[in-house]
Amino acid sequence: MNAFPWRRLAAVLLVFAVASPLALAETSDPADYRLGDQVRPDFERIHLVLDPAREDYSGSAHVDLTVLEATASFLLHAEDMEVQRLALSDESGRDVPVSFAAISSGRLEVTAASELTPGVYSLDVDFHNDFGTKAVGLYRADYQGNAYAFTQFEAIDAREAFPVWDEPGVKIPYQLVLTVPSDDMAVTNTPEVARWQADGMSRITFARTRPLPSYLLAIAVGPFEATPIEGMSVPGRVLAPKGLGGLTGMAARETPPIIAALEDYFGRPYPYPKLDLIAVPEFWPGAMENPGLVTFADNILLLEPGATSVGEERDLVRVTAHELAHMWFGDLVTMQWWNDLWLNESFADWMGNRITDQLHPEFEIDLSMLRGVQGILSVDARPSTEAIRGPIVDADASMRNVGLAYAKGRAVLGMVEQWIGEDVFRQAIRTYIDRHADGNTVADDLWQALAEASGKDVPAVLASFVDQPGYPLITVTPQDDGSVVVSQQRFLNEGIEAPAESWRVPVGLKVSQGGELKTRHLLLTADSQRIDLGPGVDWVMPNAGALGYYRWQVPEPMLLAIAAAAPRALEPEERIAFLGNTAALLDAGTVGGDTYLQVLNAFADDANPDVVAAVVGNLGKVRQAFVPDALRGPFAVYVRRTLGPALERFGMEPRAGEPEAVALFRPQLLGWLGDEGNDPRVVAYANRLADAYLQDPASVDPSLAGVALGLTAKHGDAALFDTFRQRFEASTSPAQRERFLNALGAFDAPAVQAKALAYALEGPVRPTELFEIPGGVIDSPGGEDRVFGWFLDHYDAFASRMPPEFVAFLPFVASGCSAERLERAREFFSQPDHRVDGTDVQLAKVSQQVSDCVHLRQREGAAVAGYLRSLAAGGAAAAH
Ligand SMILES: [Zn+2]
Repeated sequence: MNAFPWRRLAAVLLVFAVASPLALAETSDPADYRLGDQVRPDFERIHLVLDPAREDYSGSAHVDLTVLEATASFLLHAEDMEVQRLALSDESGRDVPVSFAAISSGRLEVTAASELTPGVYSLDVDFHNDFGTKAVGLYRADYQGNAYAFTQFEAIDAREAFPVWDEPGVKIPYQLVLTVPSDDMAVTNTPEVARWQADGMSRITFARTRPLPSYLLAIAVGPFEATPIEGMSVPGRVLAPKGLGGLTGMAARETPPIIAALEDYFGRPYPYPKLDLIAVPEFWPGAMENPGLVTFADNILLLEPGATSVGEERDLVRVTAHELAHMWFGDLVTMQWWNDLWLNESFADWMGNRITDQLHPEFEIDLSMLRGVQGILSVDARPSTEAIRGPIVDADASMRNVGLAYAKGRAVLGMVEQWIGEDVFRQAIRTYIDRHADGNTVADDLWQALAEASGKDVPAVLASFVDQPGYPLITVTPQDDGSVVVSQQRFLNEGIEAPAESWRVPVGLKVSQGGELKTRHLLLTADSQRIDLGPGVDWVMPNAGALGYYRWQVPEPMLLAIAAAAPRALEPEERIAFLGNTAALLDAGTVGGDTYLQVLNAFADDANPDVVAAVVGNLGKVRQAFVPDALRGPFAVYVRRTLGPALERFGMEPRAGEPEAVALFRPQLLGWLGDEGNDPRVVAYANRLADAYLQDPASVDPSLAGVALGLTAKHGDAALFDTFRQRFEASTSPAQRERFLNALGAFDAPAVQAKALAYALEGPVRPTELFEIPGGVIDSPGGEDRVFGWFLDHYDAFASRMPPEFVAFLPFVASGCSAERLERAREFFSQPDHRVDGTDVQLAKVSQQVSDCVHLRQREGAAVAGYLRSLAAGGAAAAH
């Protein structure tokens, strides 16, 4: 119900899995993991015999090659598979004797008896392999008694499925041929073109692909149910595991307008011959942009007709728009190497939100995303942060800035779009896509197109934000003559030192002058710049439109004047950014803890639900830093005081015709009031809803079912746990499954928590659901220590069920505000059995988060505790 370490860990893992160059090598020397470019493939046909009911499969690959430079050997990828035969022949079909051997990073070295002269060759490989079991590579999964096979290849798992040149710069046409049980359906990136059946098996040939990098190939086999998508420029379907075909309607309806909006923006049609969306029951990322066959986690794609919450609908649209934006940006035009992956993801995120907002303005997606950016800015303030674009990516570097890179890049693109203008920005994107269709690029290719279209020095601005870590603090200092001095320095938390830096920053000043509002834009290129604003300036708010990727400060009287004027003078996005900025000033030591709580309280009665949601987000920070179990009582009073007016305004029960943003916010509001605020009215209401939901799920508003089950579980006993467990196991839709799974982690009774934690590892919980139950338990009184200890005891069980590339993130369990836990984590993760590539980097990030929090608590804890206690005393008196 709020942000805490386990949820953050799960979120990090999900972002990471969407797209990350995982474990590219044990060292940073490209010779240890790259394939070299003397030999290039031109075309590859892959034939796989796949029966998902078996644990293994076999296959053969045929590759047309060009030897560009004379060489005796060349490399391709084929990781952990049994290569049964490998044969090379020259242009006239003559056999060229070769030997082969597996080497580092999943590569296979092919060596010819004598030097290969430049020319055309073909390579044939027969192999045998086991299906993956951790939802990466080519893996199998069981669902309701049926066996399925799926793929998830980004970044470097195609090499585990079949022999392949597994680098994004190698874009070639592929042709897939699948032999599968005739009762199963088989789908890939392209339409089926031929089929041959014998002995209960079907051999299906699919059309050649457009040039693709290997990480975008996709395969799914199993008894799927298909719903056609009507009204797109190409044919398409929504595919669901058997029995779930009734949940595809919303995806089938939402997709055509998204495609049309993207075709309009890019000025060219969807680039591939068909578009299937498929729900995968075991999937780490939210979705994956395989051209023609986009894979989704089932709970995102499959929604119950008439029983879908606004949040679920928003997530479906946002994720779909993100993935489909990749069809042009990422798939048609692909980064040359993984160091520019951040640009793929930043752009898709930016574009996905843009399209979501265009089609569904009622979701107010920009406001909710802006709340997320506030958290990213906090992470990016620490010295452990790094530039989102590194020179070259090795295993370690690739994992350092996960999550940050995508959101920071998205925010920086938004800032640049505002600076050069929407139309100019779109024209540059079109030029870039046209110029590089079916090819590969580096970030500079896009910067170049933006510079040409705008005539402005876009590359210098972008470079200052993506090639160096951190971001600026913009200070506005009024002068006696009516002008202001705008200056920049690196933003750092109090007491932290890091190398100085300087940026080229598009700054928007919102100025109140004689009671009138004006906006001034400037490009800050020096350490400071004087601006003449004329006489009568009341105040200057240095982030007009809230699109700046920076923090700002003004003299304190001016800050308070802006806060007082905020409800009428600032737009909702500016109010959200103001709250985030005030939290940053608390971290920087220029605002005290008690002042900060008063500001939060003042914004809590905002008319806009997204602004109140930002207040709630800030309460999460307060709780983590300042509320030990002993202060939970006074904090509950503060929470009820702060959020009570919002409950009055928006109501406990959904109202017909209310804005979607209110429906989106209500579960969070009720969750905070019922849990942290311990508000008896809310708890009683939640209990009623939970009872009704257990009787008849259709009788409860789907937006409120999850929060009702969670609040009821909080005070529930072992019998209720068993009821929820049975309902979890018997659930007939992904959304129900998720609601009951989350509720299993929401019990406060220690004995029930012990049962829940055991169930997290022993019950029918999927590996991709591992974090849900502990993520709930950690939020209960004493839960952080309990879950931390339990996690250390069960580390091996976790590590063995996760793809190895995610294990580096496990130090996140020590996040929070406890120096003792951090110390134990340091000791634990220093042991060789508990370390992988990247563990140290993640541990360093967690260390800085914890020490910042401990430092803040030491500095401001007494002031906050005093404020909360006096408020609680006053509140009690007032109640009598
Ligand atoms: Zn993406």
